[in-house]
Amino acid sequence: MSEIKIVIAGARGRMGSEAVKLVEDTKQFQLVAVVDHKYEGMRLNQIEGFNADVPVYTDIEKCFFETNPDVLIDLTTPEIGKVHTKKALLHGVRPVVGTTGFSEADLKELQQLTEEKGIGAIIAPNFAIGAILMMKFSQMAAKYFQDVEIIEQHHDQKLDAPSGTGLKTAEMISEVREEKQQGHPNEHEILPGARGANMNGIRIHSVRLPGLIAHQEVLFGGDGQTLKIRHDSYNRASFMSGVKLAVENVMNVDLLVYGLENIIE
Ligand code: NAP
Repeated sequence: MSEIKIVIAGARGRMGSEAVKLVEDTKQFQLVAVVDHKYEGMRLNQIEGFNADVPVYTDIEKCFFETNPDVLIDLTTPEIGKVHTKKALLHGVRPVVGTTGFSEADLKELQQLTEEKGIGAIIAPNFAIGAILMMKFSQMAAKYFQDVEIIEQHHDQKLDAPSGTGLKTAEMISEVREEKQQGHPNEHEILPGARGANMNGIRIHSVRLPGLIAHQEVLFGGDGQTLKIRHDSYNRASFMSGVKLAVENVMNVDLLVYGLENIIE
């Protein structure tokens, strides 16, 4: 297999810097450039903590034009991540997006673009394989337990809430669960927000604290029993096997794949 040429946007970030290591350590991957909003014209190895001798671009279109990559890995912010993904598709570069916070309308637009361009993209709100299994097991459990609430916990620098994983879990559960408003029909919140966000009647509670990375518990309740399905990511390396899988798979798809669960059997 020939090398997959990769550009990483957000390379200085917590996820991005792990992705740089992954690409450097993977034989069939080649890092050709990084995209940042600073350091135009510098080489990545001029920035503290990096060894890769590749150019830093602030203009993603110029980067695509000059380095001709196969894949963009985007690990930035919701606003810029959308722009990057769109520009990648327009340039025929396959996006692997870990950036969270895309709306349904954004996803629809990107899906249309992949169809028009005939090239694949993978957007994965969670790259941790264990988290994907947590979602799949939760979907299985929801067939037997209709009553469910989700508690997701993240570090306090996270910008979006609920997390992409929390939303995706609720979406997957909703596919098999008869819709039900969780809690008492007459319940009322003394403090607004006390019962969390509401997706198809499923409550999602978001905890934000320093010290946390990414954790989620899906709680099911039944007569005289509860079932808890929990996943914890203790560091950002936990996401990299999923990033690797996504980069390998994006070369073989010609549509938008949303969620790693769609490429894991
Ligand atoms: P982070 O540490 O804040 O990294 C974001 C990086 O993007 C920073 O280096 C930031 O630079 C850079 N950036 C900001 N604007 C940019 C622009 N216009 N062009 C290029 N780079 C830009 O955040 P993180 O924890 O790595 O997370 C990044 C994203 O991944 C978030 O959306 C997060 O929710 C998501 N995430 C996904 C997963 C998953 O499994 N899918 C797991 C964890 C996190 P400055 O620092 O200079 O602003």
